Amino acid sequence: MASGKERTYYKAVRRAINAVISETSLKDKLTVIVRGTARSMKAGASLVLLNADRTKLVHSASWGLPRYYLQKGMPNADKSISEVATGRTVIIEDIKRDSRVQYRQMAAQAGIVSIIGTPIILNGLPIGSIRVYTKQPCECSRQDISFVSTMANLAGIAFKSYLEGQSEERVSALRQTQPVAFAHPSEEDFARILDFYNMEWVYEPRSFPLKWDGDRITEMFTPDFYLPNLDLYVELTTLKQSLVTDKNRKLRRLRELYPEIKITLLYKNDYNHLLAKYGFGPLAQSRAHGIKQILYSTVDIKNRIQKMAKQISKDYADRRPILVGLQRGFICFMADLMRQITVPLDLDFIAISYYTGTNDSVVKITKDMDLNIAGRHVIMVEDIVDTGITLNYILNHLKARKPASLAVCVLLNRRIRRIVDLPLDYIGFEIPDEFVVGYGLDYREEYRNLPFIAIPDIKRPPVKKRAQLKD
Ligand code: 5GP
Ligand code: MG
Repeated sequence: MASGKERTYYKAVRRAINAVISETSLKDKLTVIVRGTARSMKAGASLVLLNADRTKLVHSASWGLPRYYLQKGMPNADKSISEVATGRTVIIEDIKRDSRVQYRQMAAQAGIVSIIGTPIILNGLPIGSIRVYTKQPCECSRQDISFVSTMANLAGIAFKSYLEGQSEERVSALRQTQPVAFAHPSEEDFARILDFYNMEWVYEPRSFPLKWDGDRITEMFTPDFYLPNLDLYVELTTLKQSLVTDKNRKLRRLRELYPEIKITLLYKNDYNHLLAKYGFGPLAQSRAHGIKQILYSTVDIKNRIQKMAKQISKDYADRRPILVGLQRGFICFMADLMRQITVPLDLDFIAISYYTGTNDSVVKITKDMDLNIAGRHVIMVEDIVDTGITLNYILNHLKARKPASLAVCVLLNRRIRRIVDLPLDYIGFEIPDEFVVGYGLDYREEYRNLPFIAIPDIKRPPVKKRAQLKD
């Protein structure tokens, strides 16, 4: 008979294996492993990795440890407990009496008594470790140790499959020292939005030489972000217009010298629009004062949708598609589109939570589909695609349910701020770089019921001059 503890360990290992063989991101897999280790041992746990030059340990995932402990600065690999260097499990029974522990005081303050560290081995080399921090003095049995090392081995397998055939940037994505010191607050905001949508990123992963004087590099360009899953660099330009010209020149040069590199530039204005969508940044304070310009009239929309529906009816002549809409902007579009489609169809909806700027929130499906889409032909219906981040998330969610096919139908497409380049099967209109409202689309919950699509007249509030301080 297995003991209660054995059953707990078995369950955690089974969950970890399921995560490792599933299609989730590496980050999610590691979180499952670390969380399972911590919970089963009734302790805190973290996963640390050696950085790229193998001199420091960096935190990659943790569970049940206080924030201040994680932010204490990363212990140097040589000074701290050395399971990573030796490739063996290290047990520290009482941290107060062990000089191998850095930040002993802080560890004690966090109630940590013992630490067990087990290396994660990749291709015969230790690359990091799983550490368990217990609040009780550790009387570790062989069973406990073999459990932690099994979890560490699973982390090793997760890394191995992740790294197979990966580029240099992707490898350095794993080794990103965290927390990252951002050069500009806007970069941090951007990283948070990416985190919210569960998109992996690396900050300034690589510098591209642009000019040489003989062998000496005289000019370089370091893009702000790299998004490994998209193989895309993103440069945020929150600078003054005068400096943007120089940046544009560098970017042209980069594209000439490295044509295989994909890079997107977000201008200050693009970026402010992106933030404003979530209620942040300077534009979020603005108010709409009616409509500035009608982009597409009721008749324009009707005609266009008729054509789209005709095409869909033709393409799905012998299939019964499920139309899935993303709440809430899709409502007018879906209603008109489905009534023009002549093949039988099913209808379902999804709703997701929006980024609210809180630190560790992640996107959630707040209303999932009611129908089972496995083996069915799904058409995702969206009002507008901007950066593509939302749609990317939704499509991944749908793909995991194994539909027979998955197409995307959008009324409005704004390419200029695209970050995730997704294939769109049916597009209503290509729209310019303007925020739009009406026909289901809102500006702060206003204007949804307009029967046309328009550009609202958005005015920023006058900037209040700060009272001058007298000394
Ligand atoms: P993405 O994730 O592609 O950047 O943003 C897509 C979502 O942002 C859309 O589903 C929509 O809710 C919102 N959105 C993007 N652009 C606009 C716009 O011009 N007007 C309105 N009302 N919403 C927009
Ligand atoms: Mg939408």
